[in-house]
Amino acid sequence: MEVRVGVRVEGVVQGVGFRPFVHGLATGLGLSGLVGNDAGGVFIEVEGAPDEVGRFLDGLRTRPPRLAVVERVTTRELAADGRGGFTIVGSDASGERRALVSFDSATCDDCLREMRDPRDRRHGYAFTNCTNCGPRFTIVKDVPYDRPNTTMAGFAMCGPCAAEYEDPGDRRFHAQPVCCPSCGPSLTLRPATGDPLAGAQAMLADGAVLAVKGLGGYHLAARAADDGAVAALRARKHREDKPFAVMVPDLAAARVLCELSEAEEALLTGPRRPIVLARRRPEADLADAVAPGNRDVGVMLPYTPLHHLLVTEPLVLTSGNVSDEPIAHRDDEALSRLGGIADGFLLHDRAIHTRTDDSVVRVFGGRTLPVRRSRGYTPEPVPIAAGRPVLACGAELKNTFCLTRDGRAFVSHHIGDLENHETLRAFEEGIEHFRRLFDIAPELIAYDPHPEYLSTKYALDQDLPSAAVQHHHAHIASCLADNGVDGPVIGVAFDGTGYGTDGTLWGGEFLVADLRDFQRAGHLQPVPLPGGAAAIREPWRMAAAYGVPDDLPVAQRPGWSTVAAMARSRVNAPLTSSMGRLFDAVAAVLGVRDRVNYEGQAAIELEQHADPTERGAYPVSLDGTSEFTVAGGDLLDAVVADMKAGVPVPAIAARFHNAVAALIVTAASRIRTGTGLGTVALSGGVFQNMLLLERAVSGLTGEGFEVLTHHRVPPNDGGISLGQAAVATARG
Ligand SMILES: [Zn+2]
Ligand SMILES: [Zn+2]
Repeated sequence: MEVRVGVRVEGVVQGVGFRPFVHGLATGLGLSGLVGNDAGGVFIEVEGAPDEVGRFLDGLRTRPPRLAVVERVTTRELAADGRGGFTIVGSDASGERRALVSFDSATCDDCLREMRDPRDRRHGYAFTNCTNCGPRFTIVKDVPYDRPNTTMAGFAMCGPCAAEYEDPGDRRFHAQPVCCPSCGPSLTLRPATGDPLAGAQAMLADGAVLAVKGLGGYHLAARAADDGAVAALRARKHREDKPFAVMVPDLAAARVLCELSEAEEALLTGPRRPIVLARRRPEADLADAVAPGNRDVGVMLPYTPLHHLLVTEPLVLTSGNVSDEPIAHRDDEALSRLGGIADGFLLHDRAIHTRTDDSVVRVFGGRTLPVRRSRGYTPEPVPIAAGRPVLACGAELKNTFCLTRDGRAFVSHHIGDLENHETLRAFEEGIEHFRRLFDIAPELIAYDPHPEYLSTKYALDQDLPSAAVQHHHAHIASCLADNGVDGPVIGVAFDGTGYGTDGTLWGGEFLVADLRDFQRAGHLQPVPLPGGAAAIREPWRMAAAYGVPDDLPVAQRPGWSTVAAMARSRVNAPLTSSMGRLFDAVAAVLGVRDRVNYEGQAAIELEQHADPTERGAYPVSLDGTSEFTVAGGDLLDAVVADMKAGVPVPAIAARFHNAVAALIVTAASRIRTGTGLGTVALSGGVFQNMLLLERAVSGLTGEGFEVLTHHRVPPNDGGISLGQAAVATARG
C-alpha cells in the first residue's frame, strides 16, 4: 500500500542545496511527490511504499547538504494521489519569515577544482561559488533569501549560469550568488596595471601594503615575512602591539608556521574558516612585527576564491581600519579611510551588505573556544529556552547584540567597541537588519545596568519593557546558555570591569547563579582605581593602588607619588574588585607592561612570560563568612618578596597564575560546602588566558567539580548579549 506524507523541515535549509538534495533522495528511493521553499523553511510531500518513505525521512536527518542545519522535521499523513513523478515547485514568500540564512562558507572543493581547471569556464574566476559554498549572510539584504534580495541583484545571470540555476540536477540549482566571468563581479586594481591579480601579487612581492576587498570587509595585506612591509603596516594603522593574523595558502604552509593539533587543523580547513590562535614555531619565518612578544600566532586559510588566487605565500591579513575604527566595508569609505595606509587597492564590484570581521578561535581541551564570533558563524542561532522575543543589547567593548525567537538566540556579528559614532551606527543598523531578517518583534529589551554604556542608553530609549542584567551575572548566564545548562552553578566571573549592584566596579566575582538570578558569594577585595579609565590604560597605577613598596622599579616612574596619594585619599579613584586589574598590577610590578595599547595587553603579556613548567604557587586565603573576600594584596606581597629574592620573572608570573587557579578551587570548594553545588562555570575575559584556564580546570576537576567553559560564544564581553537574553527569557 502506498502512503503519502507531508514533511516540513526547519533550520538552515534555504540557499544550501536542500531541494536538489531532496529531489535526489526521493527519486533514488522511487518516491513521487514535490518539494518547495516557503518562508518557514522547506515543505515536502512524498508518496510511495512505507519502508521507502521511512528511509527518506532518515536520510533527511542524517545526510543533509554541507551547509544545511536541520533543526526540526515534522510530518503529517496525507491521502495518496498516485500521480507519480517528483517536482520542485516555486518559492512561496508568503507566511512567516522563519527560514534561516546560512553563514558565509569557505569555497568548496568542487568549486576549487573548477577554478583550477583551464578548460572550465570558471577557470581562475575570483567569485566562483555554488550551493555548498560562498557568500550568504554578508550579501543578504532581506528575506526570503533570493537573488533580488542580495547584493548580487544587479548582476543578471548569463545563459549558462541561468541553466545551472534552473537545473535540479546541478550543483548550482538555486544558488543565489551563482555567476561566472561573463556575468558576475570582477576585480580591479588601483593603481591599474593590466591583470589585477598579477598586479596585486607584484605589489605585495615589492613590499607594498595592499587593501583587499573581501567577504565581510576590507583587509590590509602585506607579506608576512617582510619586516619592512609589516612594520610599515603597523605604523600606518597606528596599531602598536596587537598581533596581526596571517593567511597561508594551505594547511601545509600553516604547519610550517605553527604546531597544530587535529582539532586546530579541522577548524582551519572547515567551512567556517576562523583565525585559529595556535602555538607558533620558533623557527617560523615571520616578521617580528607580526605578533610581538607572543608565543602564539593567529593563522587562517583562504576562504574565498579571491584568497585562493591571491595568496601564494603567508600574508598578514588584518582588518581594514585605522586603530579602533570598525572594519571598512563600503568602497567609498575604504578608499578614503584606508588611503593613508594602503599603497594600492584590490577591489571588486559585489557590495558587502553587512560588515563582518573574521572570527577568532582557540582550541581548548579539543573543543572550540571562541575569542571573536563573527564571519563563518553568524547568523547561526544558539539554542536557548523558548519564551517571549527578546532584544539583548550587549556590553560596551567587543559588543554584540542578540535577538531571540522560538528557542533560538541570534547572536550578532562582532560590532566592536561602542565608543564612537561609526560603531553605534553599525549596532543600530545591525539590530534593524536582524529584526527584518528573522522577523523578530522584541517584546522585552535586556541591557547592562552600567549607566554610561551606549548600549544601555539605546535600550532605555526604546519603547519596550526592559530588564537590567548585571554584567557578571550575564557572563555566567552566557556560559550556562552556551552549554545548555540552567543552573544553579558556582559562577566564577573574572574580567576587567563591570558595573556592580552596589555601584562599584566588579570583576573578581564568585557567584551562585542560575539563569534567573544570582547571589554574590565572594569577591576580590576592592581597591581604588586611581584616575578611573586612566588606570585601565596604565597598569602601573594599579601597582600604586595596591600600595606596593616605594623602592620597586615601578615606583620610580614619574607621577607615582601623586597616583599613590590619589589611591590613598580615594579622590577620583572608584573602588574595583577586578581580577583583570590585579593581573595589571602584577605585570607592572614585574616590569612586563606599565602602559597598554589594547584591552588586556598587560595580562596577555604576563601569561606569555610565565614559565609553564613552574608548579609553585603563592598562598591565598579567604576571609568573611557569608560573603568572603580574597586579599589580592597578599598575592602582590608574595610577588614582591620573590622579586626581591631574585626569583626570575617567568617563575613569578607562573606562580601568580597558579595562585589564582588555586584560589578558584579554594573558593569553589567553600561555596560547595555551603550550597552543595558541584558545577563551576568559568566566564569573563580573564578566561581567555589559557594558562589560567588550564590550571583552573584541572584543579577543579581534580576536586570533583564539573566545569563549564565557553564553546559557542566568547567568554569575553562578546558573549554578554547571549547571557542577557538567557536571563531575560528565564525571567519571562
Ligand atoms: Zn562550491
Ligand atoms: Zn554567468
